[in-house]
Formats: sequence, structure tokens, C-alpha cells
Amino acid sequence: MSAPRESAGTTPRKRRRPGAHPAARGEETSLGRTRRARRINRTLAVAYPDAHAELDFSTPLELLVATVLSAQTTDVRVNQVTPRLFAAYPTAAAYAQADREELQEIIRPTGFCRAKAGHLIGLGEALVARYDGRVPQALADLVTLPGVGRKTAHVVRGNAFGKPGLTVDTHFQRLVARWGLTEATDPVRIEHEIAGLIEKSEWTDFSQRVIWHGRRVCHARRPACGACLLAWDCPSYGRDGSTDPEEAAARVTSPDRDHLLALAGLTPTTEA
Ligand code: SF4
Repeated sequence: MSAPRESAGTTPRKRRRPGAHPAARGEETSLGRTRRARRINRTLAVAYPDAHAELDFSTPLELLVATVLSAQTTDVRVNQVTPRLFAAYPTAAAYAQADREELQEIIRPTGFCRAKAGHLIGLGEALVARYDGRVPQALADLVTLPGVGRKTAHVVRGNAFGKPGLTVDTHFQRLVARWGLTEATDPVRIEHEIAGLIEKSEWTDFSQRVIWHGRRVCHARRPACGACLLAWDCPSYGRDGSTDPEEAAARVTSPDRDHLLALAGLTPTTEA
């Protein structure tokens, strides 16, 4: 079976037998892994040309607040509460002076509203006290803010300030592990190891593409391996999910389904 050409991201991929990938057999070189990681990124770029943060925002402060609220809930749920929230609290000072009960009431649909209200008030106070009410750009500064970890900091830096960053969330952790790009389990180590494989200028987009693929195809339970455009490059092909094209295609239900199935070499006549 011959290897696909590097530009094969737009053409149907051949399939390997599950477990037959060199990386699954421990036979991949370090250079081979780097090349494969970058090929995966290029394939994902074709699949998700418009991959972007799905939280609605128009300023760095709004993105910071939305990202803090997105813990333990969906972006859709956050986007439902933020129009009212952003209108009521347009500045860091407004959060610093917020009435806790009123703030909690607005963000209640996102869950954990007491803790999140505390984070937002603390965030407003810290921004006013230390950064003149502005959101800092440095990673070292962002991670000192209440409710802001490395993941949130990279989301804000990448999407509001254009600073490259790898956002290691649960989707990202699951997918890079399935691809055999790292054996690390600690998010910071994962970030550093993937940073060594992917070009820096691609970090933010790569993160977003990986997250989109995790949401659409490479599900935590029963990934759609038989309908996956990365099957050739994935050492976990068929390990956790079905390789049957129809069964797998039924697990891809996003609006861009036809496009994704076509890239996986399936005709979009396979209905969900
Ligand atoms: S869906 Fe299957 S083949 Fe595709 S990336 Fe996930 S584990 Fe690999």
C-alpha cells in the first residue's frame, strides 16, 4: 500500500488495517512524527477553513469573560447569556463594582454561577488595580487573574491579540493522544511537546481545527473512524470507533457534514 502524497488533503484517503500504522507499532521516527503532525494540520485546514473560536465577543475583555464562563458548559450556552451580560457590564470597572446577586442571576444558565460570579468580580478588580482596566497580553500576566488558567489565557491571546498559542482542552488532549503525537498527560507538557511539532504561526489555528474535529468526527465515545479524513494518518483508526463507513458517517451530523464526508472519500448520500 503506497503512502498518500503530501497534498492529499483534498482527495479521498486509502485506509490501513486498524493497528497497522507505523506509529501504532512503535516504528515511527521523530522526523516522521513531525511530518505527520504537520500533514494532519494541513488536512484539517482543508476540512475546517473557517475554524474559529465559537464564543461571541467584540473586545478582549468580552472574550476573557466569555472564556471564564465557558468552563463546564457549552459555547452555545455562554453565547445565550453574554449579550445581556456585556450590555450590563461593559468595562472591567463594572465587573469590579457588580452586585453579586444580579451578576449571578445573569450568568446562572452557564452553571457554577456563584464561583463564576466571584471570578468575574475578582477579574474586574484585578484588571482595574493592576492593568488600568485593560486585559494584559502577556501569558504570565493573564494567568495571575482570577479564573484564568493557561487554556483561557491562550484562547484570549490567540483570538483577541493574534498571539500564537496552543489551547489544550479536553478535545485537544484526546485527539493528540489518539494521533500518538505525545504520550504526556499533563496539559502543560502536552502544550510544549505539540509546540515542538507544529509551526508556531499555526498554533492558534491548529488548536481550533483540532477542537472542531473533536466536536464533529473524533468524538470521545465511538469516534467516526470510518468517515474520518484523517484515517490514513491516525494510529488509532478503528481502535475506539467503527471503521464501517455508513455506521461512522451516521455519527457525523454537523452542518458541514457533506464536505467532511467528501474529504473522507465518502459520497454524501450516506444519510445520518
Ligand atoms: S475519528 Fe478515528 S481515525 Fe479519525 S482521528 Fe479520531 S481516532 Fe483517528
